[in-house]
Amino acid sequence: MSQLEIDDVYASVGGTQILKGVSLTVKQGEVHAIMGPNGSGKSTLSYVIMGHPKYTLDKGDIRLDGESLVGMPPHERAKRGLFLAFQYPQEISGVSFASFLKNAYGAVHENGKKMSVKDFLSDVKEKMRLLKMEDAFIERYLNEGFSGGEKKRSEILQMALLQPKIAVLDETDSGLDIDALKTVSQAIQVSAKTANSGLLIITHYQRILKYVNPDHVHVMAHGRIVKTGGHALAEELEEKGYEAFTKG
Ligand code: ADP
Ligand code: MG
Repeated sequence: MSQLEIDDVYASVGGTQILKGVSLTVKQGEVHAIMGPNGSGKSTLSYVIMGHPKYTLDKGDIRLDGESLVGMPPHERAKRGLFLAFQYPQEISGVSFASFLKNAYGAVHENGKKMSVKDFLSDVKEKMRLLKMEDAFIERYLNEGFSGGEKKRSEILQMALLQPKIAVLDETDSGLDIDALKTVSQAIQVSAKTANSGLLIITHYQRILKYVNPDHVHVMAHGRIVKTGGHALAEELEEKGYEAFTKG
């Protein structure tokens, strides 16, 4: 069984230390939620996990199945089974969504290079139905002119195709209307179950957690995890607000 270990991580960006000793272990099949106010370092943590070059790991270690990921480029991490759904997906002009998906799949899975385009597209389309996306969508340029909701669906479509061991979802729920939230949450659940993925769900709101029930909820403040609990903690946060947990 795979596991991602975040071990006493200190990290900085632009010369400022943002993460100040974060430890967390996510195992395959588990659902963890990280909640916390704006600016507490949640996205920073997701970038550090994926190895974004702008972020520096000052101290600590990140391991997947015991192997340190420190210094490893993002595509190598993806190959080993990590996936990140971005809070703000990038628009890439001139690259169709379909060819992007084929490349991403081929880069992560050995059989991807051998798979016929026809077989690949039929797999993609099956997953698109799960997300209630129109077939014609994959002919468009990646994220270009996609609405907020379409970008989020596209991120989850990638997750469903890549079948990661561990997926980090950074505010996948923000900007989705109620129906879209339900569709996307169900797709996350089905895809995580199929691949037995471990999930690290970063969110502001409890609402996504009603659909994707977390085993563990962590509160992040000032670059640290200040409290960990079960699902009830998410409800408590919604009721009391973050302030009760973030003071000091
Ligand atoms: P969250 O996702 O919890 O809202 P972030 O991880 O995005 O928080 O940001 C944490 C802190 O890091 C914020 O204070 C933010 O301004 C700062 N930060 C993020 N990116 C940069 C950067 N490139 N340079 C300097 N500070 C940054
Ligand atoms: Mg963020």
